Order: sequence, then structure tokens, then C-alpha cells
Amino acid sequence: MKKDFGGLGIPNLQEINICLLGSWIKRFYEEDLKPWKLLIAHKYLGNKPNIFVPSSNPKTSRFWKGLKSIMHVVKFGYRWNIGDGSRTRFWEDTWFGTSPLAVQFWPIYSVRNELNKSVNEVWDGQCLKLSFRRNFSDSLMEQWFQLEEIAKSITFTAEPDALIWQLDNKGKYSSSSLYHVINFRGVQPVFIPAVWKLRVPPKIHVFLWLLSKNKLMTRDNLRKRHIIKPLDCVYCLEQESCSHLFFECIVAKHLWAHIEEYFSSQIGSSFESVARFWIATKKCSVLNTVSSAVLWCLWKYRNAMIFSNTSWISIPQVLRLIRNMVRNWAILSSGSDKDKLMSFVETLTRSLQKPLAITCG
Ligand SMILES: [Zn+2]
Repeated sequence: MKKDFGGLGIPNLQEINICLLGSWIKRFYEEDLKPWKLLIAHKYLGNKPNIFVPSSNPKTSRFWKGLKSIMHVVKFGYRWNIGDGSRTRFWEDTWFGTSPLAVQFWPIYSVRNELNKSVNEVWDGQCLKLSFRRNFSDSLMEQWFQLEEIAKSITFTAEPDALIWQLDNKGKYSSSSLYHVINFRGVQPVFIPAVWKLRVPPKIHVFLWLLSKNKLMTRDNLRKRHIIKPLDCVYCLEQESCSHLFFECIVAKHLWAHIEEYFSSQIGSSFESVARFWIATKKCSVLNTVSSAVLWCLWKYRNAMIFSNTSWISIPQVLRLIRNMVRNWAILSSGSDKDKLMSFVETLTRSLQKPLAITCG
């Protein structure tokens, strides 16, 4: 199995070469005190936090050039476990969730000043030392608060940050595991906490993580930060909180009723009633993708109403949004799960075509 480069006919030599070069990155971080590593670190890294920082030095060896040329492919397979925070770049490396914060918080990242700063340079345990090229809108401000919550989840230790290969169960780089991914364009789930295993885009992982910790910037949570906005729920004028918006609100109840009917499962009465299925990653994958879409669409629609002045139309409108979301996310599942998601999409489409079947209470 170890040397299995695919098993489907002739392997692609260029891709194999990438995978073999990739193993040098593993050696670079495993052989901390070896002379070759110290030499390379001294010559090419300087003050840079890690090997993934792009360099513009034209005077490099062929080996180093080769290694740098494959970095953009290989880096997506790695994530960092934060230790002292000195080797991991805050924005550009993956250390929280399944993609770099630069990807997850693109609107903020696109106006940042700092580049390639390590986590310990940016976060001192109290505040985020970042600066930006322009002032934040309300919606960017909410993203900023969420970024702060993520930073607060960091616990620094005395150990250096560790590089984890996420495409293999053991966390160790193997050429065949990378080959498998680049050759088949697979998307592999990795992490232990159940939320990261859901078959949804990285941005949704973060959203669900924040929701699970009650850190979304709902009106009540904004108030904890002394930001006073009307407390009303945009859908129904009761007070907005996470549990109201996602479960108790009349709109949420309507949506969950649809899902419950389809899956013949009790879901959507509270956060726990949704998240308990997350642990059964394989068995409940379809249900989990759909419930994530419900939560995300409630949030997305709410934000559109607050930040873009979208006006409320109808429950079927939100259901359509959910349907489209599930259809888009189906690509992240495979085999029968993908088929089941598509059949959910079809069933929902059919029920949306029957105007009298859905009422807006
Ligand atoms: Zn409400």
C-alpha cells in the first residue's frame, strides 16, 4: 500500500516527482538538528517563520528551486499544530480549520497590511496586532470579532509548532497519500473534532465552529462587546440569540420541520439536536450536510437583511437557498452520499413547485 501510486494505469511522472520532493519538507521538520537542515535554514529561511514563505532570491540551488516550485501543491496537505507560535504564519498557513485564515476571512485579509507574520508575532494572548488599509464596515467588523474568537482559542506551549500531514491518518507525510490526492483531486476529511469532518466548505466549518461555541456575532453577543444594535430578530422581532435565530425562531422552526419530515428524524430543536449527528460522520453525512446548509442559510439570509437591506420574501425563498447550497456542496461528498444529496435536492425542488404545499404560517 505504501508505494501504491494510484493503481489506475500509468502513473503521472511529474506528479510523482512532486510527491517525492514533498518528502523533503517532512525531513526538514523532522530532522531538526541535522547539519543539512541547519545549513538550508540559515541560507534560505533567515527570519522567515517557515519553509512555505515565498522567496524571491534568484541565487538558489537547483534542489531548493525544485522544492520551492512544488511548495504551492504540497502546502495544502499540511496543517500546523500551534506550540510556541513561532513557525506558523497567522494568515497564510493552515492551523485552524481546513484552510488558512486568509482564505476563510478573505474580505479582511484583502485589506491587511502584514504579510507572513507568525502567530506569536500577531497574537500576544490579549489582542491581535494587525493593521489594515481601510476602516471596517459593520460586516467586516463582525468578521473581525470572529477572528478574535479564533485567536482566543490558541494555547501557546513551550514546544515549537508541529507540522502535521493531513492527508494521511497517521499525520505523517507519505508520497503516495499526496499522489492520491493530486491525481484524483480528492477532498479528504481529517480532524478529530466532529465539525471539521462535515462535508461542507471550509468557510462553513468555521461558521459551525463559532456557532458551536456560541461565538457568532448575534445581537446578544455583540452586546457583550458593548456594541449596541437593536436586539430584534430580523425574521420575527423577538430577541435575537444563537438559540433563537437557529432553532426557536418561527422561520427556523419551519425549515427544520421540512428537514425532519424528509429524514424522519428529530432534528433542529436545539444546537445539540443537530450536532449529535456530527459524530456519526459516515452514517449521517447526508443529514449533516443538509442541516449545515439550513444553519448557514439562516445566517446568510439574516446577514443579507442586515447588511445589504435585502427584504424578507418567504420561507420557500430560504428553502431555495438551502437547496442551491446543498446542490453546490454535493461535490464534497462521494458515491451514494452524493446521490442522496441530489435526491434531496430533487425532492425539495418538487415540493417547491407545489405552491400550496408550503405555507408561511
Ligand atoms: Zn426570530
